Amino acid sequence: RESLVPFAPADLHYGLRSEFMADKCLEKVNLVIGAYRDDRGQPWVLPTVAQAIQLYHDDALQNQEYLPIAGEQSFCKAAAHLLLGCEDSDMQNRKFSFQTISGTGAVHLGAVFLSKFLAVPKPLVYLSDPTWDNHVPVFTHAGLSVKHYQYYSTETRLLNFEGMIQDLQDAPRGSIIVLQASAHNPTGVDPSQSQWEQIAETMKSSGHFAFFDCAYQGFATGDLMQDSFAVRHFFQQGIEMFIAQSFSKNLGLYGQRTGCLHYVANPGSEASSTVQRVASQLSSLQRSEISTPPLYGAKIASLVLNDKTLSKDWLGDLATMSERIAKMRAELQGRLEELGTPGNWRHITTQIGMFAYTGLNESEVELLRTKWHVYMLPSGRMSVAGLNSRNVSYVADAIHDVVGK
Ligand code: PMP
Repeated sequence: RESLVPFAPADLHYGLRSEFMADKCLEKVNLVIGAYRDDRGQPWVLPTVAQAIQLYHDDALQNQEYLPIAGEQSFCKAAAHLLLGCEDSDMQNRKFSFQTISGTGAVHLGAVFLSKFLAVPKPLVYLSDPTWDNHVPVFTHAGLSVKHYQYYSTETRLLNFEGMIQDLQDAPRGSIIVLQASAHNPTGVDPSQSQWEQIAETMKSSGHFAFFDCAYQGFATGDLMQDSFAVRHFFQQGIEMFIAQSFSKNLGLYGQRTGCLHYVANPGSEASSTVQRVASQLSSLQRSEISTPPLYGAKIASLVLNDKTLSKDWLGDLATMSERIAKMRAELQGRLEELGTPGNWRHITTQIGMFAYTGLNESEVELLRTKWHVYMLPSGRMSVAGLNSRNVSYVADAIHDVVGK
């Protein structure tokens, strides 16, 4: 029997993480995992989250009961408000929010739902080219077939907007289009607001279903409202959608698996009944998969999002993270330019969010790892949050050395 089960390929991210841990070199630098580090290279518990943990402590000692199947409602409501920017009463009939196992669990639950309830032949799922490494496995695991739409131009290192619109227009009517709401992973390149408006128009005229993945709200511009512009615009345009929302990065709750799946129906007299039917099926799927979602992260997030002072202070924490990342981008680019490293490095500062899509090729990335002990994804994606004032020059020297080799 054993021989019937082949080995699964090792996970790229976690494989590199193990290799990094085993690396004995003192200068080693981890630019793989998309998690914020402070300027000492250490994980950072957001001060507002630390305060919420203190506040929750006594309650936690009193009560470790199960949450409802749809999760902690005070958290879900605040999460929806953060994304959609309107009061619960304004959207009551059109949306339903569901607590999930972070962003990955939200994408998964939405994908399983679509796979189960959309008519055969099932619509294709269109993902940006490139996209987060886990999108393809999550959607295919749910029984859906994926294709890519053009997104990033390796020549211009900008959004290939015409190509994107063309592919969305060419996709069969009613396709599922996965869109990253802000701070695109891995490219750090987002559509502008007017481009989002054109994307929404194309989605409407093609009758596509929008599946937003929002894992970095607050990381693109540092402004929560601006970073959810696309989602709010689609909502106002009456486009039916799922939104997978993660609090891993913006609250630093990585290991607590804190997220939501929001379903938004088309407006109209049927909206309320559609929402109720979808919600009932999501409940049933959730019950069979995880029974009820985890308590701790949702309680902490709810405290931060619902408390006036904490939610205001949280903006300061977001600024701390995004400003440090921006500073590292500027230092890396400045140092590469100073060294005269062949190529143009302006994209390091024009790209946004946690990642830089460096343009380094696979063999350059390999040499960075083997010769310099600097780890990044083979695609050339660098987690800028892994840079700090101690290692940024070292990384620039390493890049300078491997370029063109
Ligand atoms: N979507 C994207 C685009 C991501 O980059 C990530 C995190 N790497 C996720 C979803 C999911 O993250 P999590 O499950 O930690 O919320």
